[in-house]
Amino acid sequence: MSLKMRTSYKTLYLTFILSSICIFLYQYHMAIPRMISLQQQSINDPNLPPIYIITPTYRRPEQLAELTRLGYTLKHVPNIFWLVVEDAVDTTQLVTKLLLKLNIPFAHLLAPMPEKYRKNKVKPRGVSNRNRALEWIRANATEGVLYFADDDNTYDVEIFDEMRYTKKVSMWPVGLITKYGVSTPIVKNGTLAGFYDGWNGGRKYPVDMASFSVSVRFLLSRPNASMPFKPGYEEDGFLKSLSPLKLTEIELLASNCTEILVWHTQSKKNPNAMPLDTAKYNSTNLIQLRQIIV
Ligand code: UDP
Ligand code: MN
Repeated sequence: MSLKMRTSYKTLYLTFILSSICIFLYQYHMAIPRMISLQQQSINDPNLPPIYIITPTYRRPEQLAELTRLGYTLKHVPNIFWLVVEDAVDTTQLVTKLLLKLNIPFAHLLAPMPEKYRKNKVKPRGVSNRNRALEWIRANATEGVLYFADDDNTYDVEIFDEMRYTKKVSMWPVGLITKYGVSTPIVKNGTLAGFYDGWNGGRKYPVDMASFSVSVRFLLSRPNASMPFKPGYEEDGFLKSLSPLKLTEIELLASNCTEILVWHTQSKKNPNAMPLDTAKYNSTNLIQLRQIIV
């Protein structure tokens, strides 16, 4: 082959590669607005089974921060309904305001912890809230799935897509639990072979609240299912109240429980803020900020 021919082959080859890159970039550029609009459409896709997110919450310095973080995570999830249940006698105005601003379909409910448990050293946290949400689901929902999402955990939105098609009960690992670092079903040859959790306590289901979802139809078929006011045994008691349920019927998500998509994060407890010297700071922004801080 002559030198001249070789050079023209090279030019041809280069032109081909460059034009392919140009066509690819052009098509990618054109596809971006379409991808965004597809994502937005799916936010309210009526063909997707709904996910009922049950979040117990209570007034404390961290409350608005936790709900803000969770709320903006949930905004990425299509067809969800957020049940925010306050452990309080009256709804907190700032929580209502946040819910309206987030523009996620929601119900803002109240379920104060019964007085007799309030004086306990170890309290059944969030139990009356979750039972109130179950009552709401029994009265208002017919299909889809429910999930107990505490306000302080961290959620990868992938977990919501996975749990959406739960037939009865699904389970998956939760990170940042006890000294084991994770609480998870043990999977052997693709089947459930037990549970790995730092504290067993004689439980049939030694799992965390964030580690399972339940289909609404299945809940409705178990009219007596509820959560016990028994610290440490809330998950176990609730799952047992769904019986009969075979261990083989539990669906193992997060790639057969090999991924962590939820973390049991716990915020540092902040002390209540000092009272404001209203005389000193009269006619300043601090008077308004005082309404927000706890
Ligand atoms: N919670 C509540 N009332 C309380 C304490 C907690 O409603 O008196 C809620 C809290 O907002 C959270 C859930 O119950 O969504 C679990 O509480 P927490 O995160 O304190 O428990 P932990 O994760 O440490 O077991
Ligand atoms: Mn927590």
